[in-house]
Amino acid sequence: MASSQDRIRPLIAGNWKMHKLPSEATAWLRAFLEDLAATEHGHCDVLLNVPSTHLAPMAALARGTDVMLGAQDVSAHQQGAYTGELSAAMLRDAGARYVVVGHSERRAYHAEDDALVNAKLLRSLEAGLVPILCVGEREDERLAGRAREVVLRQLEGGLQGIEPSGPEALVIAYEPVWAIGTGRTATADDAQEMGAAIRAAVVERFGDTGRALRLLYGGSMKPGNAAELLERDDVNGGLIGGASLDAAQLLAIVEAAR
Ligand code: PEP
Repeated sequence: MASSQDRIRPLIAGNWKMHKLPSEATAWLRAFLEDLAATEHGHCDVLLNVPSTHLAPMAALARGTDVMLGAQDVSAHQQGAYTGELSAAMLRDAGARYVVVGHSERRAYHAEDDALVNAKLLRSLEAGLVPILCVGEREDERLAGRAREVVLRQLEGGLQGIEPSGPEALVIAYEPVWAIGTGRTATADDAQEMGAAIRAAVVERFGDTGRALRLLYGGSMKPGNAAELLERDDVNGGLIGGASLDAAQLLAIVEAAR
């Protein structure tokens, strides 16, 4: 475990996917903010990546609090004739500070490849959004002993031409596809082993900035397994799907990050 001196401040990030209506989301956030205020949380940052329709009303409620908001996808284009797309500048203007890029559900259901993910990262950084680059292997790739190769290739492809201005400007999330929404979690050893491989790659690419980047683990993180995962050196937070929809579970994970 890292000493308190060099410990990277954890980021506990929810990923709501396509859940809740805006009215439900604001009611949820009102209650969550009250509960968060009553919970020791100064040791970590708290972020909710929500559907884009929820950003403006939630951002209005969250202003001046310790909860930050993010989006779950962004256009690879700055502006123009791209019906249905939302630009990084639009998301930022609506209240997002972060954006999830290259989530496995987008790679699988929307055919996002590393080149597209890379363009989305570039647009996000240009607009001052902090991208959370998701990487992770499928189960068949892990069983074939190719997990590390797959993750490092996604990292290499996604980070082409990327120069974060500092360690706060970029986040990497290791999310093994077989663990997302399945109730199966990587062991803390496996999460740390991949975290260390990602760390080595980002240090080689970004030097000191890479040493201090936040590397998240995502994949069925729950109150019961969070502490064990989060105490590892290269697990500097979580990207949390299902459990982030439940305020009590999310708060328990915030506490587990201590
Ligand atoms: C995710 O959506 O990125 C995720 C990790 O989901 P879950 O926590 O539900 O596995």
